[in-house]
Amino acid sequence: MKLVVLGSGTSVFHPQRAAAGFWLQAENGSTLLDCGADTPHRMAAENLDWMNLDAIWISHLHLDHCGGLAPFLFGMKHAPGIEQRTTPLKIFACEGVEKLLRSIDESHNYKLFRQRFPIEIQELSAEEKKSFEVIPGLKAETFPTPHRRESLAIRLTDSNAKIVVYTSDTGYSEDLAQFCRGADLLILECSFYRDKPIASHLELADAMSLAKIAEPRTLLLTHLYPEMDAVDLEAEAKKLWSGEIIAARDGLRLEV
Ligand SMILES: [Zn+2]
Ligand SMILES: [Zn+2]
Repeated sequence: MKLVVLGSGTSVFHPQRAAAGFWLQAENGSTLLDCGADTPHRMAAENLDWMNLDAIWISHLHLDHCGGLAPFLFGMKHAPGIEQRTTPLKIFACEGVEKLLRSIDESHNYKLFRQRFPIEIQELSAEEKKSFEVIPGLKAETFPTPHRRESLAIRLTDSNAKIVVYTSDTGYSEDLAQFCRGADLLILECSFYRDKPIASHLELADAMSLAKIAEPRTLLLTHLYPEMDAVDLEAEAKKLWSGEIIAARDGLRLEV
């Protein structure tokens, strides 16, 4: 699999970090992991084939993770060449995403769901664990995170048994760390350096405690608030855990 970091930032606007979004290219198609407000333009900026995107994962309802979804569907309607597309766009999401999209759609008769290709939405409850196939050969499991009532982490396994886990926003949880175990790539939020203002995010020490349990092959630290600009994040992280650590930046490309 190949990963492109579209947005390593948060809800706070930043000149180099867009809101959360990752492009995951698997053997049989592409998936977006979250779709922040900036994500549609970031896909174009990275020359990705957004018009043929196969699936979208939405972790929770904060707009830095789903604010680009309605604009993406709106933009797809008028994309040059879109009439060639017949394959469905599958949206896998936390609870509430369909209501959000329908509300926006009805507020101005945008006709977001009237496309030349089918849009299939499947919502996943935080209460029950479910396995599903995102695209052929790419299996997924979800796990609730201590961030919001609906928020979910996702674990993706491809046909070569390579594993990518994306926690999205989360507070500290040892159960979540267990869910992340054995990942080839763990995309882990690391919102703050220290003295985090809220329990529903991680600061560096939390993230590294989680990494010690999860032991990923590669750890990608993301969801970086502007205060992280002043921190040599990789160097500070390596003092706490000896594995491979990468601080996410927009445009970074990784092979899994
Ligand atoms: Zn966020
Ligand atoms: Zn959030």
